[in-house]
Amino acid sequence: MLKDKFNRVHDYLRISVTDKCNLRCTYCSPDDLPKGAFANAPRMTADEIERIASVFVKSGVKKIRITGGEPLVRRDLKEIIQRLSKFPVELAITTNGVFVNEFVETFKEAGLRSVNVSLDSLQKEKYFSITKRDQFNRVMENINLLLTNNFHVKVNVVVMKDVNDNEILNFIEWTKDFPIHVRFIEYMPFSGNEWSSEKVFSHEEILNVIAAKYEFVKLQNETNDTAKKFFVPQHQGTFAIISTMSEPFCSGCNRMRLTSDGKMYNCLFAEKETDLLSNLRLGNDIEPLIQKCVLEKSEMLGGNNENKNWGKENTETRERSMINLGG
Ligand code: SAM
Repeated sequence: MLKDKFNRVHDYLRISVTDKCNLRCTYCSPDDLPKGAFANAPRMTADEIERIASVFVKSGVKKIRITGGEPLVRRDLKEIIQRLSKFPVELAITTNGVFVNEFVETFKEAGLRSVNVSLDSLQKEKYFSITKRDQFNRVMENINLLLTNNFHVKVNVVVMKDVNDNEILNFIEWTKDFPIHVRFIEYMPFSGNEWSSEKVFSHEEILNVIAAKYEFVKLQNETNDTAKKFFVPQHQGTFAIISTMSEPFCSGCNRMRLTSDGKMYNCLFAEKETDLLSNLRLGNDIEPLIQKCVLEKSEMLGGNNENKNWGKENTETRERSMINLGG
């Protein structure tokens, strides 16, 4: 079992299978991303992903989420999904949805039933201005395809002040007739993503907007939930808020992250990484390294709550962006 100094059991692994993406969302994959440092990094092969994942599973991991970059752009993703599906874990994926139609059968065969799709606007033009790509119709069609095939669909919306905060109610309206589970995510700072505290639309602000039009009920949270969940009575779907910035949820954290070049992070905001891939290639036992990485986990926000840079405009000290870390 992977337990840290604060008695938190870590049984959830998020694997980024690529740091490439077919969209260019301003908040995630900015143009001046420090690509140089990672462009030539060795990437885990499908076999290495399976071998590293197997060590995590033996150590107690019960859930694996495939993420990226955009996982569906990796050519051998179907093989990776098939390999991971052999483990006794809940398998899930986070995607921008553009290529979902090519993977529906693979997901079904692998028993992968939960798909998170990122979609920050329900307006085609705004979607384009955020992602810099004209893929809105395709993503909407693919969300419908997932619903038709009875997948559990969560829609991730990064809420940014004066960008899409005026669409919150439209997303709630969408949950009326469709079993869509919308998750509003507070805008987080990452290297070069032009974050500033003024652009954060907080948990409280989101709830105030919704409360002005709807009566809603809080759902019971589970220990490891990052999202605070709610539902509007009579709506088929639900909504939730991921309040990393205003109300961090570190006390119940059970997450570990693996980048596509095989580095383990014990927190999304950790500054230190553990090189599992190089050690695997050298034939070293990586299990003690995983244990050590978990033991070194800070109590909150990768230790950044005490760091002078946390919450300030300058986030340049963070080397990796969301596109490297997989969200
Ligand atoms: N390409 C996939 C996708 O679009 O979902 C998976 C990777 S993406 C990094 C994972 C999640 O991180 C997405 O839901 C995205 O919206 C979120 N994300 C990226 N940058 C963010 C930021 N600065 N603040 C909050 N969420 C962010």
